[in-house]
Amino acid sequence: MINVALDGPSGAGKSTIAKAVARTFDYIYIDTGAMFRSLAFKALESGIDIASDYEAVEKMLRETVLDIARENGEQQMILDGQNVNAFIRTPEVSKAASDIAVIPFVRQWLLKTERMFAEKYNCIMDGRDIGTSVLPNADVKIFLTASAEARAKRRLAELVEKGVEVSFDEVLAEMQYRDKQDSEREISPLKKAHDAHIADTTELTLDESVNLVCDIIRKVIG
Ligand code: C5P
Repeated sequence: MINVALDGPSGAGKSTIAKAVARTFDYIYIDTGAMFRSLAFKALESGIDIASDYEAVEKMLRETVLDIARENGEQQMILDGQNVNAFIRTPEVSKAASDIAVIPFVRQWLLKTERMFAEKYNCIMDGRDIGTSVLPNADVKIFLTASAEARAKRRLAELVEKGVEVSFDEVLAEMQYRDKQDSEREISPLKKAHDAHIADTTELTLDESVNLVCDIIRKVIG
């Protein structure tokens, strides 16, 4: 199977770019952030204080079934039998996802699912630690990045389009919080793999970014 690992900070455009790349090469796109988000959503709904009550999170995982379905090519997160895609993109869930992602047993729990997909499909998988930890033998590794301001601007536009009421400053602050926590956590921090290709999209349009990533893949896979 061909596995492409696409890592980078929040809002670098990973999911939009990965979807376009998946269409170009006929790969399956796997969004691992959505898995962390789904678990965070359940923890919030269950009233669990993620940062201080790891025991409750562990108990929750024992009673959780997380599955992935596809609808019109889009990944759907099925949490305990319910499609939760509509609920996992709010700023509150974003922050909680970053909080839950620092917990080692949560990462371990998801690792099996992530690797199972990579074994089954030609795929492009996006996340923070795909090239460094989930798929260290991926055929192609790309580290996608952009300035914090450019990323916050793009994320704001996405949220506004979905009708979420939020300001630029709030989005930027939430992004900086996640950048810091994702990069500084002990287990599987956001980090460029030593053999990853860097793609900086600060000055690029979406089409240019997609072309850049496709060119890297073509060069490596041949
Ligand atoms: O990519 P997305 O913004 O949906 O991810 C939500 C959060 O999940 C990230 O801020 C990060 O803390 C966590 N995450 C992770 N490892 C991954 C994917 C996401 O820690 N592979």
